Amino acid sequence: MSDDAPTDKPAPHAETVLAQAGVGEDCGHGAIAPPLYLSSTYLWDDPDKKPAYDYGRSRTPTRSVLETLLAELEGGGGALVCATGMAAIGLPLDRLPAGAKIVAPHDCYGGTYRLLAAHADKGRFEVRFLDQTTEEALRAARDFAPDLIYLETPSNPLMRITDLSRWTALAKEIGALTLADNTFLSPILQRPLEWGCDMVVHSTTKYINGHTDIIGGALITKDPELASELAWWANATGVTGASFDSYMTLRGARTLSLRVHRAQATAGQIADALVGHPAVVGLNYPGLGSHPQHALIRRQQKGPGAMMSFDLAPSIDPRAFLAGLEVFTPAASLGGFESLVCIPAIMTHAGMTPAARAAAGLGDRLVRLSIGLEHPEDLLNDLTAAFARGEA
Ligand SMILES: *Cc1c(COP(=O)(O)O)cnc(C)c1O
Repeated sequence: MSDDAPTDKPAPHAETVLAQAGVGEDCGHGAIAPPLYLSSTYLWDDPDKKPAYDYGRSRTPTRSVLETLLAELEGGGGALVCATGMAAIGLPLDRLPAGAKIVAPHDCYGGTYRLLAAHADKGRFEVRFLDQTTEEALRAARDFAPDLIYLETPSNPLMRITDLSRWTALAKEIGALTLADNTFLSPILQRPLEWGCDMVVHSTTKYINGHTDIIGGALITKDPELASELAWWANATGVTGASFDSYMTLRGARTLSLRVHRAQATAGQIADALVGHPAVVGLNYPGLGSHPQHALIRRQQKGPGAMMSFDLAPSIDPRAFLAGLEVFTPAASLGGFESLVCIPAIMTHAGMTPAARAAAGLGDRLVRLSIGLEHPEDLLNDLTAAFARGEA
C-alpha cells in the first residue's frame, strides 16, 4: 500500500484544526507560529516561471494559512480572505451577469441590504427581499427563479431561523447558487455547506477574530473551482485581505471554539435568568425550548450561540437602561471577548422610519445583547441593576 492510499482516518475536530493551522509549515526557518509576511512583492527565481507567491494583492503566505484554516473549518474546497465582511459579500456578486436575479432575507445584515438595494437601484440586478422563514417565500422564490439565493441564519436581531436544507433543495431544483452568511454562529456551531450551500461568508471581524481589533471577511466555497474563479475576481477588484490582518485573525481564531462555547454557556445562564423577569418581554434566544423553531435549531445548529434580544418592559426607559449598565458596553458589533449591548431603534437603525422599523419587527424597546467572556454573575447583576435604574 502506498503512503497516499485512502485511509479511514477520521477528519480532525475543529479544536485540533484551530490549534494546528500552519504549525511547523514555515519553509524558511521552521518557525512554529506561522510568520507574518508583509512583503508586497516576491522574487521570480526563473523569469519564465511565475512563483507561487508573486504579488501581495493576489496571494500572501500569511493569508494562505488563514484561508486553509477557514476552508477546513467550514468543510469547504477553498476560501478567500477579504479586507472586510462586506468585501467578501460583494465578491460573488462580481461574477454575476448584468440583470441577474437575487433573493435575500428581508431582515438581512443592514450593510448587505444596503449593497443589494443599491445594485438593484442602479439596474444591475433584480433583487427580491423575502421573509425566508415562510412557505410563501419558498413559493415566491421558485416563481422568481433567482440566480443567487442569499441566506442568513439566525437573523439579526430577532434570532429567526431559516431552514438551510429546504432552501438549498429549492436552489438545486431551479439551478440557483446559494450563499449563507454564517457570522452569527461561526463554523463551531453551524456548517452551512453540510446543508447543501455552495458558499459561506463571514465577517471575521466578529467571532472568528473575536478580539475587536480587526475588520475582515472570508468567503468559503464547496467547489474548489468556484473558489479559483472568485480568487480571480478578488485579485481583479483588489478586495483581498492584508497579511497583517490575517496574522491577527489567525491568532484570534486559535481560541474560537473555547470562546464560542464559553460565551454560549454564559448566554444560556443569562437567558434562563431573564425568562419571566418583569423587565423582559419576549426573549429571543435560540437556546430556549420556547423558541418557535426549536426543533429546526436542534437539527441545524450545534448550539444556540451567544446572541439574544428582548423588549424592555414599558416601565423602563431604554436610554436610562443603557446609561445604567456598567459591564455591558453600548456598541454596534458582536462576537468579541467583551459583552456589548445595542438598542437598534436608537443606535443602528435610527435612520429607518418608526413604521419601517415596526414592519421589520424592530420595536423602539428592543435590546440586543452580544454575550462575551465576562463572568455570568457579573453580567446578570449588571443587567438587573440597569433594569432597576431604568424604571421611570
Ligand atoms: C458585521 C457583519 C457583516 C459585515 O462585515 P464587516 O466586517 O463589518 O464588513 C456582515 N454580516 C453580518 C451578519 C455581520 O454581523
